[in-house]
Amino acid sequence: DEAIHTGQWCVHYRADLEARYVRRLTITTELKRALASEQSELSMVYQPKVDLSTMKVCSMEALIRWNNAVLGFVPPDEFITIAEQAGLIEQVTSWVMRRTIEDLSYFRVKGYRFTVAMNLSTQDIQNKPLLNKLVNLLTEFALYPSSLELEITESDLVADASLAIENLNALTSRGFHFAIDDFGTGYSSLAYLKNLPVNTIKIDKSFILSLATDENDQQIVHTVLGLADAFNLKVVAEGVEDEVSMNILKDWGCDIAQGYFISRPLPRADLEAWLENSPFGE
Ligand code: C2E
Ligand code: MG
Ligand code: MG
Ligand code: MG
Repeated sequence: DEAIHTGQWCVHYRADLEARYVRRLTITTELKRALASEQSELSMVYQPKVDLSTMKVCSMEALIRWNNAVLGFVPPDEFITIAEQAGLIEQVTSWVMRRTIEDLSYFRVKGYRFTVAMNLSTQDIQNKPLLNKLVNLLTEFALYPSSLELEITESDLVADASLAIENLNALTSRGFHFAIDDFGTGYSSLAYLKNLPVNTIKIDKSFILSLATDENDQQIVHTVLGLADAFNLKVVAEGVEDEVSMNILKDWGCDIAQGYFISRPLPRADLEAWLENSPFGE
């Protein structure tokens, strides 16, 4: 009886492994195709960030979207990880860079002043030719590096500290600004971040989503805000889904808020309408 049980478990386990393997393989193949194709399945959306001292938009986070003919919508968390492992991240980031800077330039021409935040993976931070490409793109569109923010995930940074510091310093001296994404998930401390050329942290949304009701989250966020103030770091809260949370963050001196309460990530055309109609619009 036990043997049959174990046997069944093995079969299920194998089936599950196979399903995951097939999905991973399909994502890799389809992503290669999407990157090579003319009418790309890839697109960018932008999510507003609001300065809590003025209650106006100050920045947009650029987020990639992929709608594939075979797989449908594939979440970026899933395909970015696979792209990193399959050696495709450079191509993905290259595509994101060009599209994001084109869009930033479009909004600058229209007179908007907000900055744009782009997500980079650790591999990108170590890829000098890719970073040179970024510098050249900015030159091509006559934009300053300071009009961009680069977000890097806390856990990536902790895993690869020494190389990262060198490259971060080099980019900072060229005028780039960095933010530590998903802060609170990577087991680093603010004291450690003090040694990096970073002036902004983004508190991970897992601490913010239930801020209005969860006393543990309130205590954590309150403590992080106090320490960040002592270390002179700017704080962004991501995952603000309700007005109560937004007001708590404002009262406690958080600098910037981002979340569905303000807006979901939007394609460029929808973002223009949002900028004109939202009370948070520029
Ligand atoms: P992230 O950089 O931490 O981005 C924030 C994520 O939180 C986004 O998910 C956003 O849609 C989501 N979010 C924002 N506000 C709320 C809210 O109020 N409630 C909830 N439940 N979620 C909220 P998204 O777009 O699915 O991206 C997931 C992750 O994928 C990103 O996390 C980032 O790590 C990665 N990613 C997305 N675009 C890119 C990209 O262009 N390049 C790279 N390297 N990574 C990217
Ligand atoms: Mg981010
Ligand atoms: Mg995040
Ligand atoms: Mg994330």
